[in-house]
Amino acid sequence: MKWVLAVLLAFATRAIAVDEVPESPVDFIDTSFENASPLWYEVAADGTVLIHLIYDQQRQSLNRAAGHLHFRLQAAKGRKLTLEFKNLDNVWNSKPGSVSGEIRQVVVSPDGKHWTPVPTHSPGPGRVQVTLEMPAAALFVARAEPYRLSDLDRFLEQIRAHPSVRIDTIGQTVQGRNLEILRVGSPEARHRVFLRARAHPWEPAGNWVVEGLVRRLLREDAEAKAWLARHQVCILPMANKDGVARGGTRFNLGGWDLNRKWDQPADPRHAPENAALERWLQAEIQAGRRPALALDFHNDGNGKLHLSRPDGPEGERHLARMQFFETCLREHTWFVEGSTLPSFRNPGSLGEGLLARFGIDAAILEFNCNFIAGLQQPALAKHWITFGEDLVQALEAYFAKS
Ligand SMILES: [Zn+2]
Repeated sequence: MKWVLAVLLAFATRAIAVDEVPESPVDFIDTSFENASPLWYEVAADGTVLIHLIYDQQRQSLNRAAGHLHFRLQAAKGRKLTLEFKNLDNVWNSKPGSVSGEIRQVVVSPDGKHWTPVPTHSPGPGRVQVTLEMPAAALFVARAEPYRLSDLDRFLEQIRAHPSVRIDTIGQTVQGRNLEILRVGSPEARHRVFLRARAHPWEPAGNWVVEGLVRRLLREDAEAKAWLARHQVCILPMANKDGVARGGTRFNLGGWDLNRKWDQPADPRHAPENAALERWLQAEIQAGRRPALALDFHNDGNGKLHLSRPDGPEGERHLARMQFFETCLREHTWFVEGSTLPSFRNPGSLGEGLLARFGIDAAILEFNCNFIAGLQQPALAKHWITFGEDLVQALEAYFAKS
């Protein structure tokens, strides 16, 4: 009788405690490692794990960005978990805009090396959830296959001694990390192309593309040797290293968007990454080595080539050359997404700034973070690597005619 009363009392006490915190289906969400996204979490009454992403913010602006996902779930093996990502209400170019519609898949990995895509679902407007089953006691989750500073360091060490490679330090980030320019090919080459990756930290595709392209060029077959005799590629492989290290989404640690304000000289205090790149470009041009083409690699939910249309006859000629480049991409890579509308302008982006200030044909190339339309496959690093390999041919075709 006594134990029945005790049980009844326990139930009664439980019923009164309306503000009780629910049991957590996860033991912990680990964000202690390189490139992990800053976040905090709680659990909803129905057991959904609510992951509150932390925004990074722009200087002298209320622009803010979240949407980078990279963390390690720790929970019992076999447990089914539903996660919901909060704080997707970014402010972009001074306008509110949710990125919820662009997060159609995440990737998961038990070891942080081998990743599997998992589609997300939406229980309502602006909401993104994913349901996962723990294959072991820990599981990495990411927005796209991560490419960390340590991945770049390992890659540069592997290629550093190759006779066709030169790596120079051109400056430092806000936090003092070295910024490298990687050159592949002959300095006397007729055609020069400049590539930049990772201005925005959440967007790793550009790094995978760079690896694919450079490894293809160093394969030492007849085709690669012929390419390297006629072309040189110069690459700033990770513009926003500080942001990548701390798992940020868009801005550098000075609160600068490294793909904005390219219509004016960069502020060396807040954007030393852009100031270093400008100094390097000016020196190259003075030495008679102006790149004929520049591409800035990004990720988004669309995957288009962003072609700007500056006014005047030079703008028309620029557009014609870039449209031909788009044709080369369609012919030699899996690219099918097309380019921006005929009215598209973005004067502060690197695409337009390099043309206006340095006389270089330039474009922003976005990679769809969810889906590779040309392959009808989920977006994964292996496809970005093959794009980089095939970009060699696309560039060859472009320069052969221009
Ligand atoms: Zn971007």
